[in-house]
Amino acid sequence: MGDSVQQQQDTLSVPRACNVLMIYPRFQANTFWNFSEACKLLNARYPTAPLGLITVAAMLPANWNMRLVDRNTEEVAAEDFAWADMVMTGGMINQQFDTLRVIQLAHKHGKPVVIGGPDATSSPAIYKDADFLVLGEVEEILGQFVAAWDAGERSGSFVAEKFTIDVTRTPAPRFDLLKTEHYMYVGVQYSRGCPFTCEFCDIIELYGRVPRTKTTQQMLAELQSLYDLGYRGHVDFVDDNLIGNRKSLRIFLPDLIAWQEAHGFPFEFSTEASLNLADDHDLMELMRKANFFAVFIGIESPDPETLVHTKKKQNTRRNIAESVHKLYAAGMFVTAGFIVGFDTEKVSIADAMADLIEDAAIPVAMVGLLYALPNTQLARRLAKEGRLHANHDRMAEETGDQCTLGLNYDSNRPERDVLLDYRRVLKCIYDPVAYAGRLERLAEMLDRSGRPAELAIGDRRRDFISLEFVHALLSKMPEAREPFWKVFKSCRSNNPAALRPILSLMTLYTHLGPFSRFVVSELDRRIEALDAAAASAVSRAAPSSAVAVA
Ligand code: SF4
Repeated sequence: MGDSVQQQQDTLSVPRACNVLMIYPRFQANTFWNFSEACKLLNARYPTAPLGLITVAAMLPANWNMRLVDRNTEEVAAEDFAWADMVMTGGMINQQFDTLRVIQLAHKHGKPVVIGGPDATSSPAIYKDADFLVLGEVEEILGQFVAAWDAGERSGSFVAEKFTIDVTRTPAPRFDLLKTEHYMYVGVQYSRGCPFTCEFCDIIELYGRVPRTKTTQQMLAELQSLYDLGYRGHVDFVDDNLIGNRKSLRIFLPDLIAWQEAHGFPFEFSTEASLNLADDHDLMELMRKANFFAVFIGIESPDPETLVHTKKKQNTRRNIAESVHKLYAAGMFVTAGFIVGFDTEKVSIADAMADLIEDAAIPVAMVGLLYALPNTQLARRLAKEGRLHANHDRMAEETGDQCTLGLNYDSNRPERDVLLDYRRVLKCIYDPVAYAGRLERLAEMLDRSGRPAELAIGDRRRDFISLEFVHALLSKMPEAREPFWKVFKSCRSNNPAALRPILSLMTLYTHLGPFSRFVVSELDRRIEALDAAAASAVSRAAPSSAVAVA
């Protein structure tokens, strides 16, 4: 392995010391992924920790002091600003509103702001009030920023060359900056980029189509660092497609398995992968042995024509439900993404989508409206066709994610029909009896053999299968108590090894049940507004027709 970026910077002239306040902005409140009620049950404040900022922290000069405040879990204090020489911030589009607020706050306290991250990279104009923009993968440009700062410059823009960063030289994130007790899980990153070409995806625009992977030594050092800090439990590989570079993964996983065995399996892993993982039995078995327990997969649509049109060809020419079941046989449950609103949906897609979710027995299905993310092939096509809405990349405070904000363009089908379709899918799949039915079928299929019998001491999920926890869980959702209790009893009798993942998916329903009802009410509001606008258009047109008739 070559010298890391940090080592390189340390050999350059040492810059003056600096206090950096890293602020991770709040995500929108009403989002699918915030799992607020589940966090409360697990005594956590937010699902996941800010990996990007602690990775940047590791690249800054050794004599710079870092303080990290995650606004999803704690408040930033006036004293934090008073301590800081600069504020570093940035995040995803769902953090845009709060990122802009952080810029204002920092300026109010007289501190310059350095902004980076995916949303600023995709939509830099939105962040014009920041003092420094450091855009793209920052490894090779951070040194330029540090030199400029040290030379007394107080504004500037640094843009990384695309897809050229050698991640084998990226230093291990500063996990020591995290308050891991605040989170349900922490993330690590093995690869960047994905070989596929999905039209709506911004990953391939931000990280390219040739996946670049860290070395085994790097990854084991990162895990060792987490282990040495005392963390035990769920670790998410945040890669957008873990199997993007299967050749490297096959080299890494046996060493990961050996590391897990040598340390008594301190971690359980989740990740994202493309559905063709189901075609690779050997890889799934390696993931089982490494203790991967969950995989997020973008399924998107039951309609093959739509999948081809949106360039998600890896999901075509296969029985999607059977592919999902193969992952269950390998002991990993699947959460999946689905999208309503593609151009190729000629008629209602609702029943076919709900049926697929049922057939595949996927309890947690992230069904959203199509949202044209900035900096994607989709956004460029819609702009060319004159269909992209003004402010399509702006987030308003009161809104949430693509579940409530989607369709930021003129849809092919009438918008009302798309919204009704989406409403129908949500009503169907998040009915408590339907959710319990999918849990029950998953419990029958999930083969958890070859797993450690118990979670590591210190893993906050160890209490999951106590009756006390189950009662506390069921008391939180009276509407689901009866069907969920039935699933719990049958799983405990027939497949006790699957009980913990099943209970974790029940726990997520404490958020998903109310959240789906919230989205349905928002859809009703949008549909009513469309109806009112249509009625008003008719009444405006009426007098002129009357005149014409007269
Ligand atoms: S498979 Fe996933 S990460 Fe890869 S291009 Fe498609 S949506 Fe993006």
